[in-house]
Amino acid sequence: MPNKIIFDHEEIKRRKNTPDLSGKQLLCLGMENIEDENKILHQILAASSDPILITTKDVKIIFANPAWEKLTGYTLEEVRGKNPKLMQSGKTPKSIYKKLWKALLKKQSFSCEEVINKRKDGSTYQIHCSIFPVIIDGEVTHYVQIQYDITKKKRLDKLKSEFLSVVSHELKTPITVLKLFTQSKLATSQKTNTATLTTKELDLFNREFTRLTNLINDMLDNARIETGKMRMRFEPFNLTELTQETIEKISVIAKNYTFVFEETQSCIVCADKQRIEQVLLNLLSNAIKYSPKESTIEIRLAKNNSHVVISIKDEGVGIPKKERKTIFDKFYQVRRQDGFGLGLYISKEIIKRHKGKIWVEAKSEKGSAFFFTLPLVHSQQLKI
Ligand code: ADP
Repeated sequence: MPNKIIFDHEEIKRRKNTPDLSGKQLLCLGMENIEDENKILHQILAASSDPILITTKDVKIIFANPAWEKLTGYTLEEVRGKNPKLMQSGKTPKSIYKKLWKALLKKQSFSCEEVINKRKDGSTYQIHCSIFPVIIDGEVTHYVQIQYDITKKKRLDKLKSEFLSVVSHELKTPITVLKLFTQSKLATSQKTNTATLTTKELDLFNREFTRLTNLINDMLDNARIETGKMRMRFEPFNLTELTQETIEKISVIAKNYTFVFEETQSCIVCADKQRIEQVLLNLLSNAIKYSPKESTIEIRLAKNNSHVVISIKDEGVGIPKKERKTIFDKFYQVRRQDGFGLGLYISKEIIKRHKGKIWVEAKSEKGSAFFFTLPLVHSQQLKI
């Protein structure tokens, strides 16, 4: 019976030393005909959602499955016969390649998470890479590479650790200010036996407490989203009124800005009123935070048949094109200024729970416009 080249990836991945497959059937499909069996195995490789690349022992590509083509942007035809080096980005530590070849030359498999490759379009991506030699009659005949794209995971890990350092800084600063302030007031009042606070002092207290409360609320909301416990209380209300009230609230603390609200006729939505107010407050406070004083913030409600589109437009710093999608990711910040990148993420989650959409249209340096939609409720749908 002829030897069969059979790739049992999971089994091989589990072992440090690559087994010699000669004469063994790790995977028995019970076929009489070796060609039929190879066809089936070929289809399995092709259908795998993990990107797989196979080279000859002198490292020339002979096979790449569609998942690999999708990940890298190359087609098999473009890379056939070439060395996988063409994917190297130059960002992978050289020591990794040394370790890889050390293992492969000993006929052992190798896996690591530090490989950063380059796609056909030049963009880079990080992979968990497993390579193992195929050994027949004691000789290496091929190398098989399985790649898992871990770019997102790595980015999230990085953001998580940045998040922790930001949280400790953001929480510590207001707490320290309040503590020092209270201690000094206490000392004075104990000495003079009086306890008076000026409006300015009270204002400082108020601002720092608000900051602290907002940060804690964002962290709690994040925990609720992660654990699936963010519940919505839907009720019909007039969104025009809520928007007007929210602008009034924010304009008290943002006196240097002009708010222009293009009122439309009443606009009834069935939504969680408190949560929608939270989204409006978040978008309005961002508009203030990232815009120069004396600038104008425009708020609009535009109705179509089924939806209302709410837009908040500022004259601020704008958002670079490549960041416009990622700013809605958890902890993501283009430029740091108070907060820790949770506001837009929480807003996106709230709007998602209302079957709406949220997005941004911005220029790189001048102004951003945030939009979100909510389904409208028509009067006949309301049981009044
Ligand atoms: P943060 O607490 O950092 O404001 P957000 O989730 O609210 O967190 O916003 C994420 C990032 O999006 C911000 O760090 C900022 O860089 C960018 N951003 C949000 N709103 C605006 C805006 N109106 N203009 C410019 N950049 C903005």
